[in-house]
This record gives sequence, structure tokens and C-alpha cells, in this order.
Amino acid sequence: MISSNQITNFLTIDVEDYFQVHALSKVIKPEQWNNYECRVEKNIYYILDLLDSITPSNFGNSRATFFILGWIAERYPKLVKEIHRRGHEIASHGYGHQLISSQTSKEFQRDIQHAKRILEDLTGEEVIGYRAPTYSITKETLWALDILLEVGYKYDSSIFPIRHDYYGMPSVPRFPFVWNLGQGNNPKIESIYENKAKMYLTNKAMILEFPMSTVTICNHRFPCSGGGYFRILPYLFTRMCLDRINNEGKSFIFYLHPWELDPGIPVIKNLSLLSKFRTYVNLSRTKSRFKKLLTDFNFMPLKTFLLPLEN
Ligand SMILES: [Zn+2]
Repeated sequence: MISSNQITNFLTIDVEDYFQVHALSKVIKPEQWNNYECRVEKNIYYILDLLDSITPSNFGNSRATFFILGWIAERYPKLVKEIHRRGHEIASHGYGHQLISSQTSKEFQRDIQHAKRILEDLTGEEVIGYRAPTYSITKETLWALDILLEVGYKYDSSIFPIRHDYYGMPSVPRFPFVWNLGQGNNPKIESIYENKAKMYLTNKAMILEFPMSTVTICNHRFPCSGGGYFRILPYLFTRMCLDRINNEGKSFIFYLHPWELDPGIPVIKNLSLLSKFRTYVNLSRTKSRFKKLLTDFNFMPLKTFLLPLEN
């Protein structure tokens, strides 16, 4: 089933390995990452092959935005080139996968600049999109937006417009909008669909934001855009949410991590019950759900959202 009103939906993949997720960060430190078996390459090839093999009726194969961690790109340069060769968008997930709130502005700048350079050197193409580790742009870390612009990113997809223990900004709009940073210390939110739509592309003080998808039920926002929510809730719930968002005339943004399709990732000891649940729940069900999603809907990379604005 393809959205009847021809709305473009977006697919995003955060390219990192299981030992880098925030839920495990109390047990596995970055200096220990090299000690763990990397499974990301195999899992990304699985996703690439799946995207090439599933063609929803009357539509072409889906294409995605891959937010790639610089640490992974350095170790798997061929993988980055292959993602690019198969027609997907290369975007940045930063270099070292640390929460923005745990970095100084200088450290953050170095991290996102380093990742951008690695990716651009591999593909020869400008990287314009960024996603923060663990959606860590919040009210407390809005300073990061200025640095994203300074370094040359044009859009951000790092905000979950809900309340959550790690992340969340329930006050921002549910759908793509523009941050106007030329407003002193308080970035101003402007609608993308009003007169600022074209302006932001050339205006150095504006950055486009793609918040993660939510549905509103009884005035409450519920996350439904992928990741753990996709693993925990039945597939029909995701499909219903996607339809509901498209019926509002808006695009759905889906995200997944390669390790979420891999029930063979090692079981890490000494995790809290919550971290264990968040990381391992329903890993064996994700592949079949993801196949259904790709069969039912067509997806595009986030950068295609910009094309109508450029014309
Ligand atoms: Zn991540």
C-alpha cells in the first residue's frame, strides 16, 4: 500500500555498531570499541541488498539517507563508497558518538567537522545533513545549531519532539521547520511552508530541521518513527501511524540502526534491565517487519525534501 496522496516519506539509517549505542555506554567505553567484533558491514550490506530487491508496486526502489559515524567510515571506507554508489544519500552521524551535552562547543565542532571531512573525501560530494548521537539536540544544547551551520551543514535531524529520559523537545513542531539563528541567543522556529522556504537555503542563519515522526492521540505525542519503537510495537501500529501522518498531508520519517536487524549481536553483561530491554527486544522480528515496510511504502532520502525549494 502506497500513500495515495503521493506524499514522499523518508528513510534514514544510523550507521553505527551495537557496542556504540548509548544504552551500553556505562559498560563499554569508546577506548574499548576496538575489542568488539564489528558487525556493521554485514548488516549494512543486508540493508543495501534489501533496498535493491524490494520494489513497491508502481514505484521505484526506496532510497535512504545513511547518517554514518566517522569512526565507522574510517574503518570501512569501501562501505561508504558502496552506499553512495547505490544511489543513497551520505550524511553525518558525527565522529565519536558522544552525547552533545557531554561535549564542549570546541569538542563538538571538531567532532562534526572531522566526520564531514572523512565522508566528503570518500565520495567527493558535499555532506549537508547531520544527526546527533541519541537525538541529543535538546533545549540545553541548542548552541550546537550555530556550530552545525558554521561547519557547513544545511539540515539537522536530531530532535525527538517528545519527552524521554535521554532526549526530547516536546515544544518544537512535529513536522519539518526552519531554525532561524539570526535572533540573538534564542533560535526562532519558522515554518518551512511559509515565505522562508527558499530563503533558508541561501541564508547563513537558517538550518532546516527534520524532527522524528510522532502521532498525536488525545493531545499527547507518541513516537512512532522507527528504532526501538518499531521493534517493541506491532508492525500494524507503525503502518497506521504512517497512514495517519500522510493523511495530515505530511511526510513520515523512519529510522533504523543496522544492529537492530541482527539477532546475533553479542549479549553484553552488567546492563541495567531497561538498557537490556531497549537494546535486545525483538531483534529477531525486525527483518521481517522492515521487509513489510519496504514492500508497503516507498521512501526517499531527506535531501530530496530540498529539491522543490531549490527550484
Ligand atoms: Zn547513533
